[in-house]
Amino acid sequence: NRKPTVASLSEPFFARTWWPCKDHPTDKADSVDIYVTIGYDLVVASNGSLVSIIDNGDGTKTTHWHESYPIATYLVSLAIADYYVYSDTLKYQGHTMPIDFFHYGAPSEGIRANNALVREMLTTFSDIFGIYPFIREKYGHAQFNFGGGMEHQTCTSLGSFNEWVMAHELAHQWWGDMVTCGSWHEIWLNEGFASYCEAIWSEHKSGSAAYHGEMNSFEASWDTSGARDVLYVSDTTSVNKIFDWREYRKGAWVLHMLRYTVGDSAFFRILREYGSAPRQYGTALTADLQQIAEQQTGRNLGAFFHQWIYEGGRPNYEYAFFPEVTDTGVVTYLFLNQVQQGYKPFQTDVDVRFFFPETTITVRLADTLIAQNFILRFADVPDSCVIDPDNWILNGARRVEYGYRIVNDPLPDAFVNKPYRQQLLAAGSKAPYTWSAADVSLPIGLSVSADGLLSGTPLYPGIYSIFLRVSDSDQPTHDLSILVPLTVRLIHGDIDDQPQITLGDLLYLLRYLYKDGPAPVDLLQADLNCDGEVNLVDVVVLLNYLYQQGPAPCMTTDYSSSRRG
Ligand SMILES: [Zn+2]
Repeated sequence: NRKPTVASLSEPFFARTWWPCKDHPTDKADSVDIYVTIGYDLVVASNGSLVSIIDNGDGTKTTHWHESYPIATYLVSLAIADYYVYSDTLKYQGHTMPIDFFHYGAPSEGIRANNALVREMLTTFSDIFGIYPFIREKYGHAQFNFGGGMEHQTCTSLGSFNEWVMAHELAHQWWGDMVTCGSWHEIWLNEGFASYCEAIWSEHKSGSAAYHGEMNSFEASWDTSGARDVLYVSDTTSVNKIFDWREYRKGAWVLHMLRYTVGDSAFFRILREYGSAPRQYGTALTADLQQIAEQQTGRNLGAFFHQWIYEGGRPNYEYAFFPEVTDTGVVTYLFLNQVQQGYKPFQTDVDVRFFFPETTITVRLADTLIAQNFILRFADVPDSCVIDPDNWILNGARRVEYGYRIVNDPLPDAFVNKPYRQQLLAAGSKAPYTWSAADVSLPIGLSVSADGLLSGTPLYPGIYSIFLRVSDSDQPTHDLSILVPLTVRLIHGDIDDQPQITLGDLLYLLRYLYKDGPAPVDLLQADLNCDGEVNLVDVVVLLNYLYQQGPAPCMTTDYSSSRRG
């Protein structure tokens, strides 16, 4: 009809181009009055509540909108056209609020149907996040000539009337408008949240499968290469660098992963708290969200936020599993390796689902290392397993055949002051294997050679856990790390440190007890009945053992009073 349209689009830093302001998201105005004088017979849509439309008597009229809530500069908006206007009404917790729709002409049935969903969206998000932040005013959307939408406070501008765009822009009223990202570096706090709410809307409408479907559709829809995958925006001078799809889709995934990590009830508590003062009608940073999440859960979530916000990449799992039937039941070894190049190991819980002929069992494992081995006990032998079956964590996962395990676990016992020699063996991958052990975990006197010979003479009894690391000969190599228990026993009765228990030991003991002879290296050696004392009873036990076919001296692994390596 040849009438003009006018619309503003100021995010992130273009409000300054059409009205004087300190144009930074942290500098919210406590309220805004917008007066528009035009000569055409046009409708002006803007923020807040309509105060008046005054005919100036000179062929112009002045429309006055008043926004009574704090508002960031980029959310101040004008949308002017020969709008077709109609309204819906929200009744919520005693409030009655208009929902206004401004269209270029009468909307189609399809658009009307989507508009009719806005009331339910308002109710849904209010139930979950707290009451619609601008309940004293209105919500509405006004058609404009840009694509997509822009979440102008109380008056979204829309170029497409897709249901999920509507949900997204409405959700911004909480996340973006009520709580505004305090820096464009952290735009994900706006866009990731609003995108995540598209999935929340799907979940409300159609249930969990729809929620996951939405999240799955987001996955990998951003550039995951290198720095392009880091959510924190390092260069905020360019609009395109700020509004990268990554901020929307990966941002939504951070919330998805947080929900998995902390559980539903804590997650929604966190969102409510995040939307509370002093952030409500103010601004927030990622650090605020982390602090709230840690307060609400009592957990340290530093690794979570660091790896997903400030680092790129994702865990790329290679896994293998070996069920073994043993005397004590089925033991299933799961080897979970992170093989992503250029990124540190991710620390995350991850679900693993095991499939049995009749059933499935899902276990949640805390995966924190490049190479991590899990030993699981099930009643039956699993046929297969899947990593992260419900897609809660950004990851790649591939089952591999290289998975291997250390064969001699547990190791045969060692004895104090007796030479020990055990060839470590691995199976399941390409030989030769290269071995090492963390020195602090080895009994003093034992060492591990690169070809896997565990040898030496242990000096002190105890129950040790040797931290072994083994690499295969694949290219690149695959590393396994595992704790292997080793018990170093003391031979009670072997008092003189000569091999075997003999008359020499008896004489040594008698001299010690009755002739001021030297003490055994370890007094426990002379405690043949393990009663904690060395006395005549031990002499009798030794005599009976040597000459009367009496029982062997006691064996114990309770070396708590003894020295440790
Ligand atoms: Zn958005």
